[in-house]
Amino acid sequence: MKAPSLVSSIAALALATALASAPVFAQDAAAARALLEAAATAMGGRERLESLDNLVMTGFGQRYASNGNISTDPNSPPKWQAVAEAERYFDLRNERTLNRERASNMFPFAATFGMSWDARERLQTGVAMLDHPLPALLAALAPTTELGPVQIEDGMAVVAFTIADGTTLWIAIDPQTHLPYWTRWITGSATLGDVTNTAYFTGYLPFDGIWLPTGLMNKIDWRDQVTLMFQVDSYRLDVPDLPEFPAAAGGSEGGGGRSPQIASTKIADGVWDLRVANGGSGGAVIEFADHLVMFEPYGNEAQTMARIDAANRLVRGKQVTAVIVGHHHEDHAGGLRAAVARGLTIIAQRRTQPFFEEWVSRPAVRFPDELARHPRPMDFMPVDEHLVLEDSTQRLDIYHAVGDFHMSDGLIAYLPNEKILMEGDFTDETWAWNWWAGALRANVDLYGIAPELDIPVHGTPGTIEEKLARTAEQVEAAQRFCAENAARGAYPFGCPIRWSTTGPIAE
Ligand SMILES: [Zn+2]
Repeated sequence: MKAPSLVSSIAALALATALASAPVFAQDAAAARALLEAAATAMGGRERLESLDNLVMTGFGQRYASNGNISTDPNSPPKWQAVAEAERYFDLRNERTLNRERASNMFPFAATFGMSWDARERLQTGVAMLDHPLPALLAALAPTTELGPVQIEDGMAVVAFTIADGTTLWIAIDPQTHLPYWTRWITGSATLGDVTNTAYFTGYLPFDGIWLPTGLMNKIDWRDQVTLMFQVDSYRLDVPDLPEFPAAAGGSEGGGGRSPQIASTKIADGVWDLRVANGGSGGAVIEFADHLVMFEPYGNEAQTMARIDAANRLVRGKQVTAVIVGHHHEDHAGGLRAAVARGLTIIAQRRTQPFFEEWVSRPAVRFPDELARHPRPMDFMPVDEHLVLEDSTQRLDIYHAVGDFHMSDGLIAYLPNEKILMEGDFTDETWAWNWWAGALRANVDLYGIAPELDIPVHGTPGTIEEKLARTAEQVEAAQRFCAENAARGAYPFGCPIRWSTTGPIAE
């Protein structure tokens, strides 16, 4: 702790009380309350804060794109989404927030929404709106909130508090300024288990007598990854008219909800396509003499479990014993923890092993998943350049996927007898653009394979000829998109497009 003389007597007393009296709950709560009161005083006075009707914050920044890193290496460059024209309306009276912003990927993306600057809005309530010190402090001071003990972390006094819906958060108070320095909360993730999020508040300035941060930055407890960098460019207090707030979002989680329906299509003898019904993603299931192998633990626990269950009903007496991971992005490997919980062997590119070991070893206590309920070590089968799975009835070749600038640690699979390819993110007929159109050709050339049919993770199975024709259209569409932008002096990430289906595009 720096400059102890600046610590006010009330906060110093609170810290001392906290340190001295962990088991005495009444004193803990009193110490916590004293700290929060001091923070309210520092921000402009509790009465003033509690009399505010609303707060409008505007600004810009960058958000971490969690499914974007090209490789699994900790030093692989993260991908970001640009956030512009952001307006956040804190309706303090009604404990809700409206977030309006234009957000566009700072990297090429296959769907138009990822590269559009269309304004979007979303409603936030509960813990989702407490990543700002004003609503967080008001929530901590609310009469329905339960205060926990005070702890010390890196020289900050930290108060645990449980809001009316039962969620526990933490708020750190700077002992010198008494201003909130961060808030912390836990979210559940299909890939990382429990994730601790910390929102940091810096650059406090006064606005009509209320001290508010001009810098906001969020981090998670995985690689200490920054997930949001936000620069405030205005604050307004108590604006007369708030915009209309949208209705609360529905409970559907996409991809078919908790028990998705699976569409099963027989492609050849011992080869099926199993994907989430009505346009969802999935991949192949391959029959061997005494077991089945599945391609891609896609989506999340529910989708992967549903596909494993559907596969296990395909052939009497044969069960899925292994899953091939096409690549490590959190949608494509979203069911990895589920597959490990089911005891499946994980077949993936060797460089992904430490990354996936980390995924499956993380706790999921607040948000338990199947792996947390049935913990198991991961059975990992690494693939370097080429691995053959072969028995008396089947041969499946697995190759390191090359030539796809979307990911470097991926795998494709190939049935040499049926000439069937399995891939994720090489093709999808529903995409608007394909920025990695050279991938199919690169693998055909490198490995001397001659696929005739493709079972993709996204889209539907089709002939290689169809896939290449559609991919060529997507390349032309990307060229038009880049040209239209260039004509008005705009240069989106990924432009000009560098790859066609036959190789590099000449200048
Ligand atoms: Zn994908």
